[in-house]
Amino acid sequence: MSSGIDLPSGAPAAPPVKLRPEILALPAYKQGKAAPTGFKLSSNENPFEPLPGVLDVVDAATRQLHRYPNAAAPEITARLAEEWGVEPDEVIVAAGSVALLMQFTMAAAGHGDEVVYSWRSFEVYPWMTVLPGATAVPVPNTPDHRHDLDAMAAAITDRTRLVLVCSPNNPTSTVVTAAEFERFMDRVPGDVLVILDEAYAEFVTDTDAVSGRALVRRYPNLVILRTFSKAYGLAGLRIGYGIGSPAILAAARTTIVPLSLTDHAQVAALASLDRGEELKARVDDIAARRDLVYEALVAQGWSDVPRPHGNFIWFPTGRHTAEAIEIFQSHGIIARAYLPDGVRLSIGEEESVEKLLAASEEIFRSISEDVRR
Ligand SMILES: *Cc1c(COP(=O)(O)O)cnc(C)c1O
Repeated sequence: MSSGIDLPSGAPAAPPVKLRPEILALPAYKQGKAAPTGFKLSSNENPFEPLPGVLDVVDAATRQLHRYPNAAAPEITARLAEEWGVEPDEVIVAAGSVALLMQFTMAAAGHGDEVVYSWRSFEVYPWMTVLPGATAVPVPNTPDHRHDLDAMAAAITDRTRLVLVCSPNNPTSTVVTAAEFERFMDRVPGDVLVILDEAYAEFVTDTDAVSGRALVRRYPNLVILRTFSKAYGLAGLRIGYGIGSPAILAAARTTIVPLSLTDHAQVAALASLDRGEELKARVDDIAARRDLVYEALVAQGWSDVPRPHGNFIWFPTGRHTAEAIEIFQSHGIIARAYLPDGVRLSIGEEESVEKLLAASEEIFRSISEDVRR
């Protein structure tokens, strides 16, 4: 199956059996489109292949495919505990941080409970909130596409069970600062779970940005989520992890889909952690390319593109979004549309930059002409 396959959205017809109406009302998760020709910059994937040594260990694991994986993941758990300076029971590993987001939501929130998050943010948040029957409380981003943490804190009620903070925020690529996060945590009741979703933390170069690394054991109600999908380039293998209090992680462990974390993913993550220097070189490369593209966009006149901190850029194209996607496509660039708000574009291969900037220039011209008319 092609990784770029578009899942059908919505229900095809009325089901012959009784199903939950709130589930039937949900659109299915939609992946970034594959690029038959051109650059696929629609899924925030890493343009680099897996790090050296990774394919060899995955190959070896393949020889054991007739066995179940060791889902307890003792080696990668111990290794991550060492990296983060915590005990193994303060680490939870699962088949992607999306799986962890679902596990924590299921552990914390049910019918009548509320989940607070910024919007726009990760498309999975509204969806995973509905699955256990909880109620979503989306809090609009600020006009400059950042989390409105004051409004989020104010949105917390007796029914709130989970608050999600995404930094860098997918899809706007803005960060929460360490100072803002501290102020926010001071306002959140200690018995409300906060998840700091840091899927793109490795790409952050702004020293003012919040970092889970500096927050380990600081707040008993905080869980930090990281993934091997983005910077580490293991999106296809599905592995992510969380750092937090043992009792919270234990609850999330009970909501796991059993045996979903493969041995392949575990050995690949271990081998990747052994390649810290190569990883850093790649991440630096992508971050430098991102900054270069951003400067070029500002020079083109894109004053409303927020400074990007992840491996992706947000174009607030508003009602011109569909047109922008088409122009990108005509330049061989597959971007992600967030109708009716904007376009998200991942930083990909070096060769994609010229096409990207030619397209963005054309889009900017087209929008400004339309605005003048
Ligand atoms: C990509 C992404 C994830 C990571 O997902 P995996 O399941 O680990 O591949 C988590 N959170 C956000 C905000 C993301 O963009």
